[in-house]
Order: sequence, then structure tokens, then C-alpha cells
Amino acid sequence: MTKDHFIKNEPLAPHTTFRLGGKAKYFFTTNNKEELVACVKLAKKEKMSCNVMGGGSNTIFPDKGFNGLVVKYHGGKLSAKNLDGTKIKVDVCLPLWELVNFSVKNSLSGLEYLSGIPGNVGGAVVGNAGAYNHFIGDLVESVEIFDGQKIRQLANKDCRFGYRDSIFKKKNWVILSVVLNLIKGDKKTLTKISRDLIKNRNEKYDYNIFCAGSFFKNIPLKKVPKALLKKIDPTKIAGGKLSVGYLLEEVGAKSLKIGGISVASFHGNFLVNDGTGKTADLKKLANKLKTLVKNKFGIELEEEVRFI
Ligand SMILES: Cc1cc2nc3c(=O)[nH]c(=O)nc-3n(C[C@H](O)[C@H](O)[C@H](O)COP(=O)(O)OP(=O)(O)OC[C@H]3O[C@@H](n4cnc5c(N)ncnc54)[C@H](O)[C@@H]3O)c2cc1C
Repeated sequence: MTKDHFIKNEPLAPHTTFRLGGKAKYFFTTNNKEELVACVKLAKKEKMSCNVMGGGSNTIFPDKGFNGLVVKYHGGKLSAKNLDGTKIKVDVCLPLWELVNFSVKNSLSGLEYLSGIPGNVGGAVVGNAGAYNHFIGDLVESVEIFDGQKIRQLANKDCRFGYRDSIFKKKNWVILSVVLNLIKGDKKTLTKISRDLIKNRNEKYDYNIFCAGSFFKNIPLKKVPKALLKKIDPTKIAGGKLSVGYLLEEVGAKSLKIGGISVASFHGNFLVNDGTGKTADLKKLANKLKTLVKNKFGIELEEEVRFI
């Protein structure tokens, strides 16, 4: 592997669902973990910054681009050799929907509630992606990583999964593969859950809009001032968290727009690019929303999306 293998000056926006960001000095796509490790080693040797991405559905690059190497670890298929009883071992370049479909088809339960979440398995592990109080981290048995020196295995407890959080948000490690522990389920029931959830998502929003899903994290109840909690409609609380969309709607978020970025009409916590937006606009709008919520409710919002 040399720098000649990389694409030069690749626009990053088309590789992200928000369609934001400038160009990468160097860019490489692979679904081969040896190649991924070789890229990371080369970047280190050349003293270049290196960012590993998956499906780009939670990543926002700066307008000025990325002055280093972006590796898109993406693609692949599953087969019977990925299965060992109720365990599935996958390279994390795999799109999450392929994994969910595979598990459902093989009558394995655990992943069906993640139906319709965009991106790859790696991005899902980093952000402990989930829906309806089901999180991928709960299914992880072990994760294979390259820590910059060597390849090693982490057990679930070492991944420190939390709400939209894991150790991978703090460390500069590359995730190569993961072993998930599922349980036997009924294929018909799993298929119905999966289809219903996708239908439900399609009714809520159009998948072709440029966004990264929920922008801010919901608020754990221990962070909500007690006086405020008493006044809040209980339907705005789920899974021990207060809906940030509710707080944003209460501060008038839905009428706000900066440049090509606006708050979606259907959800206060979806920020949307009309195709002309810039990362700078998004940051300004996000800061404005944070200030409005802080001033009205005394709550600090935290981004779920990842600014590079
Ligand atoms: C319409 C829409 C709906 C969504 N709904 C949900 C939802 O219901 N629940 C939910 O949790 N999320 C949701 N999301 C957010 C997003 O899809 C998830 O966070 C997803 O898991 C991100 O995966 P990705 O591959 O696209 O990650 P990316 O955006 O490519 O990467 C995310 C982060 O992980 C890092 N990363 C990726 N791969 C690796 C790797 N192999 N090694 C090390 N680091 C890596 C990247 O550097 C980046 O920091 C939604 C997004 C959209 C656009």
C-alpha cells in the first residue's frame, strides 16, 4: 500500500447523508480489514491525519475538508460461515441493514428493532446505535480493533457502551469486526417487527432528505431540573430520557433556518440540509438551539452526530 493507491481531492459530502463537508486530500474505500489496517499504518508513517468512516450517516466533515486520509470501510456480504449457532461474526464494513436482514432470515432475534437505521455495523458500534430501547451494544460479545500498534479483542465490558456512547468515541482505534450474541426467535414474528418498523420510519420522514437523523441526544432524567420535570407531559419521556425534540419544539426550533440548514417541519431534533447548506451554517444553527434550550430550561444539549 502506498499513497498512489488513494484518490486525491475526493469530495466528502456525497459520502455523508448530510451532504456536508469539503474534500479529502486522500480517500480510499475498502471492505478488506487487512487493507484498512495497512491504510492506518501508512497514514501514521507519513504523519497524516486519518479518519475511518462507515456509511457517513452520523459524520459531518468541515467545509474546508480533511487534510489527510479518509478511509471508507464499507461493503461486504454475509454467508453461513458468519454464523456459529446464535453468534454472528461480521466485519464492521457491512451495512447494518444487511446484518439485520440476515439475522431475521436466520430466525435470530436481537437486531430486528434496529431495522431502518442507516449506516454500517462499525458506525453503529461506535455510537451504540439503537431504537425503541434496544441497543447494538447489548448484543456485542467482543470487538476486534486495531489500536495503532496491534490487533486485539475487546470484551463487551471494555467497550463501555452507554446511551449513544462507547469507548470508541474517545479512543483513536479502528474497529475491524464484531461478534454479536443473538437468541433464537420466530422468523415470522421477527420479519413483521422489522417490516413494521421500516414502514413506521417511512411514514415519519423521507429517507432522501439530507440529515443525520436525531441531531442531539435525549436528556437523561437526572439532568432535568426537578421543577421542570414535574411540569412535563409524561408522554415526552421514554426509556428514562426526556425527548430533546420536545424541548426544541418548545423553544420554536421548527421555524429556524440558517443558510441551507433548517429544523425539519416534522421533528424538532432533525436538522436538514436543503443541498446548499454548509457545515458552518449547521454549527451556527446547532449553537443557537443549544442557547435557546439552555436559556429556557437550564439544560445543556449534547450532539449525537460527530463533527470531524
Ligand atoms: C434518517 C436517519 C435515521 C437515523 N436513525 C437512527 C436511529 O434510530 N438510531 C440511531 O442510533 N441512529 C440513527 N441514525 C444515525 C446513524 O444512522 C447511526 O449513528 C449509524 O449507526 C452510524 O453509522 P455509519 O456507518 O453511517 O457511521 P459514520 O457516520 O460513518 O461514522 C460514525 C462515527 O463512527 C466512526 N467509525 C465508523 N466506522 C468506524 C470503524 N470501523 N472504526 C472506528 N471508527 C469508526 C466514524 O469515524 C465516526 O466518528 C439515523 C441517521 C439517519 C440519517
